[in-house]
Amino acid sequence: MNNFDVILIGSGPGGYVAAIRCAQLGFKTAIIEKYSSLGGTCLNVGCIPSKSLLDSSEHFHNALHNFESFGIEIGTPRVNLEKMIQRKNEVVEQNTKGVNFLMDKNKISVFHGVGTFISNTKIAVKKEDGSSEELESKYFIIATGSKPVQLPFAPIDKERVITSTEALNLKEIPKHLLVIGGGVIGLELGSVYQRLGAEVTVVEFLDRLIPTMDGALSKELQKVLKKQGMKFSLSTRVTDVIRQGDKVTVQAIDKNGNEVSFEGDYCLVAVGRSPYTKNLGLENVGVEVDEKGRIKVTDHLQTNIPNIYAIGDVVRGAMLAHKAEEEGVLVAEQLAGQKPHIDYNLIPGVVYTWPEVAGVGKTEEQLKAEERKYKVGQFPMRALGRSRASGDVDGFVKILADEVTDEVLGIHIIAARAADLIADAVSLLEYRASAEDISRMSHAHPTYAEAIKEAALDAVEKRPIHM
Ligand code: FAD
Ligand code: NAD
Repeated sequence: MNNFDVILIGSGPGGYVAAIRCAQLGFKTAIIEKYSSLGGTCLNVGCIPSKSLLDSSEHFHNALHNFESFGIEIGTPRVNLEKMIQRKNEVVEQNTKGVNFLMDKNKISVFHGVGTFISNTKIAVKKEDGSSEELESKYFIIATGSKPVQLPFAPIDKERVITSTEALNLKEIPKHLLVIGGGVIGLELGSVYQRLGAEVTVVEFLDRLIPTMDGALSKELQKVLKKQGMKFSLSTRVTDVIRQGDKVTVQAIDKNGNEVSFEGDYCLVAVGRSPYTKNLGLENVGVEVDEKGRIKVTDHLQTNIPNIYAIGDVVRGAMLAHKAEEEGVLVAEQLAGQKPHIDYNLIPGVVYTWPEVAGVGKTEEQLKAEERKYKVGQFPMRALGRSRASGDVDGFVKILADEVTDEVLGIHIIAARAADLIADAVSLLEYRASAEDISRMSHAHPTYAEAIKEAALDAVEKRPIHM
């Protein structure tokens, strides 16, 4: 009964997608999840709940600031935070229940409890009530994800000094939210509370926001968020976080070497996430980890123990749900004897601020570092009829193409609906389009996507039509 072909440990987007693909390929499959709810970080305390609150806060922001100019008079809107959080919880529940349904439909056995390796063919599942059962399998796929990085001088008290998990469940809107880290989480959750009326100050160690994305996007995003009221202190090294009652003080050294301090009532620590392998019993089987605690894997996502694989946030690479999913599918198909492949250069990155930010392929900084000769095409959203109609005039599309062959090497967008537009960009790079190819494709009018064609025209011959 408790003997399987493949066991997944962790039910996030890596684990549950891998389980489905394994079951589709005919493997007898089980999944172990330590929490009662399936879906991992992404569905429970990550992608889905944050997007629900981003959407709620965006509706509020539009009602407060934009409806009137669109000819809609509703009086002064008010926030019901409790209801907003309740709706978010309902959205999470719909999604996690959806995963339960998919497990049933694909006849995947689900075990709730902490999975700990006993040997390379046996794993113990320790349940909350203290009982334990043993499962056996030919193959294992570790998909245990990640947890927030903590700063040694800023212990998370889950009340005032918080991680993203608590920020998704606040009981009140902060008066002044201090955010340590100007990365994806800091800017997305900072945007939520800024739109709901909080003062938000972001303290970032580096000299730019969203440091892994194209530098032009960082600059434009900072400009737009500043216009929305968010404050920034870049090149600032946080040295201490002190909580006194309802007050939190962040002490830091600014870019000129001066001591500075910021006072608020909540502090969100969003300085990255680290791989999670606690209680997995890796030492019992000898699975190796690297200096950052990530499980070491080959290009085929195989660990040093041949029948144990690892995917998602717990291994090297971007910590993104869709990257974890692709890796889950890759391992399942390999086990079935197929020869799948992932092009990591074509995994898009998205930030769900407004406007949204998205990029795929090489950034200009990467091309410079590679000393590759390239050309740039750029087109501002404000020149489009679609943008003027919706009032979303901030941002641009930037295309990087090889100077000689014209092959598109990177597409970087900051615009309304950039998160959806980037799918087109991925296809263009996957099929190795040239900038001229794009410039000769019909783009429906009026759409935000027209900016991609115009940026391509700019890259080809500096001849956009609408500028
Ligand atoms: P996880 O989703 O972390 O799942 C791991 C699971 O393993 C967990 O459920 C955990 O309980 C379980 N587990 C751990 N150890 C054991 C054990 N020993 N036994 C049994 N179970 C165990 N990514 C995006 O692509 N888009 C977004 O919009 C986005 N938004 C995010 C917003 C926030 C606030 C956060 C925090 C993250 C966000 N991410 C987003 C990142 C995304 O959530 C992760 O990249 C993704 O969840 C990784 O998937 P995973 O399957 O590797 O691990
Ligand atoms: P991140 O790596 O995106 O950003 C962390 C930021 O904190 C960086 O800019 C870094 O320079 C800064 N930083 C680090 N130490 C600091 C310090 N001591 N003081 C000040 N700043 C400091 O990490 P995150 O925002 O915590 O997100 C974690 C992961 O979750 C990311 O890898 C991201 O991919 C994923 N995520 C993705 C999405 C999305 O896809 N939309 C949304 C949320 C989270």
